Amino acid sequence: MKSGAGSLAKELASIRVLVPAVIVAATALAYYSYRYAHELARRGEQSIMDTNRDLAEGMVKRIEQLVVDSDRTLFELVDLRNLREFPRRWSDIVRLSPAIESALILDSGLRIVPDGYVSKKHSKAEVELFRRLFEREIRPKLDLESLAPDEHKHLHREFDGRYYLISYTRRNVDGRPYYIALEGDLAYLVGEVFPESFAGVDARRLYQVIDEHDWVVFGHPFAGIPSKYMVTLTFSKTLYKWRLRMAPREAPVLMAKESTRRAFDVVLIALSAMTVFVGLGLLAMTVRNEQRVSQLKSEFIANVSHELKTPLSLIRMFAELLASGRTKGPESAREYAEIITRESERLSRLIDNVLDFARIERGKVAYEFRVGDLAEVVARGLDVYRHRLEREGMKLQVAIQSNLPPVMMDENAMTLLLLNLLDNAIKYAAEGKELAVSVSTSDERVRLSVRDRGPGIDPQEEDRIFERFYRAKNVRGRPVRGSGIGLSLVKHIAEAHGGGVTVESVQSPAREKGSTFTAWLPVYEAQNPQDLGSSLSPKEETTAA
Ligand code: ADP
Repeated sequence: MKSGAGSLAKELASIRVLVPAVIVAATALAYYSYRYAHELARRGEQSIMDTNRDLAEGMVKRIEQLVVDSDRTLFELVDLRNLREFPRRWSDIVRLSPAIESALILDSGLRIVPDGYVSKKHSKAEVELFRRLFEREIRPKLDLESLAPDEHKHLHREFDGRYYLISYTRRNVDGRPYYIALEGDLAYLVGEVFPESFAGVDARRLYQVIDEHDWVVFGHPFAGIPSKYMVTLTFSKTLYKWRLRMAPREAPVLMAKESTRRAFDVVLIALSAMTVFVGLGLLAMTVRNEQRVSQLKSEFIANVSHELKTPLSLIRMFAELLASGRTKGPESAREYAEIITRESERLSRLIDNVLDFARIERGKVAYEFRVGDLAEVVARGLDVYRHRLEREGMKLQVAIQSNLPPVMMDENAMTLLLLNLLDNAIKYAAEGKELAVSVSTSDERVRLSVRDRGPGIDPQEEDRIFERFYRAKNVRGRPVRGSGIGLSLVKHIAEAHGGGVTVESVQSPAREKGSTFTAWLPVYEAQNPQDLGSSLSPKEETTAA
């Protein structure tokens, strides 16, 4: 048994190392699964966003290219050597070219050359208004002097609450610089070029062109689109003040999916971690219990061996004395025989207990239940026991209530229960000299109580004394014989009968000390009163032994 306890201690030591290792492994696993799931989701999203960005970049490039190309073509058409032709030719060009609103030619002094301004604006007033705006506000912003020959630039700006796109270049003729400026038709750009350019974008995407105040110039409303799913790009060559924004149409769904997934991951990981921790906790508890039981078992084996050895040595010694005829007289021969009887009784009860206990442990115990009167069983048990009590010099009080209702019981088991309680009373409470046994009924229960005037039981141990192998602290190490299975048998028997066992104990010297063990059984409810027969013989008895 020692080696059993030793190997258990070794197992415990390895479990002590194993538990933190499992915790670390489980935490690492949880962390990496979370990271992996997160990374996978992030990559999925990233690929959606990458496609989105590629598409938006393509769109910006295309629109800017369109603007630049159309401007270049128009610049090519200006013949600066033949400026007299400009108004006539350009009136037609401007009228026919939908992408521009006006065209202006400036000389080296940055003044508009005579007849160097053509426009398709509707009224003269509008034409004049733009000329003034150009000369006062726009021209200074163009920084024409710093323009290199054939360099092509754009100005995109808001003047008086309206956006203008000016495309301009410098041409040298006979060493003298001229400047050509084209006013782009933004209404045409937004109304015709944008729709045509965006027509190819697939239906799974939302897009919009917004100005510097975030007002939508063109495209879809973006309400409810989380900003992390949007890509925003500027038109860096032409329409500086506007930006293109694009997002997957299912962005809100993606967002919802992501938060669900996150919540799911967290719950799943927390649950798995909890399962591991609870499992480890249970394992630790089981191991600790096993260790305790194993220790108790080894004590039990030692106790039982001792319990067997003592009566056997006594029996052998006195039997040998009797056999050799070396007795002092018939008186001592009778005394020897009594000792032999007493010790063999104790031996057989111990063996009964151990056998019953072993049967319970193996789950093999079978009770033979019959309807009967507990009072009768108790009375018979006490008869058997009475001479032992006399021998110990104990006073017995018996109080059996009359008209007790029947109970369903195994009589042998109930006798064993009673004898165990009486044995304990003699073993632990003999100095009290007083013992009271009562059988009574109330609340549909029949109660059997054994009260002694012994030392009582520590309240903290009141529950534990019913555990198998458990012996109270005050008897451990003291030479009170016992194995720690008596009360666990009592409890098992009472519970197998649908009842239970309780103990009340007084240890304080201020009150009368002692313990009262009460086993109770439920009253038998007869389906048919004739079932009971006439076996019940109610009686009330109070005796002093
Ligand atoms: P055992 O008597 O073989 O030790 P039991 O299961 O019968 O085992 O009892 C368990 C423990 O309960 C005993 O060791 C003892 O400490 C305590 N005990 C039982 N009966 C009494 C009693 N009448 N008075 C005081 N202590 C008791």
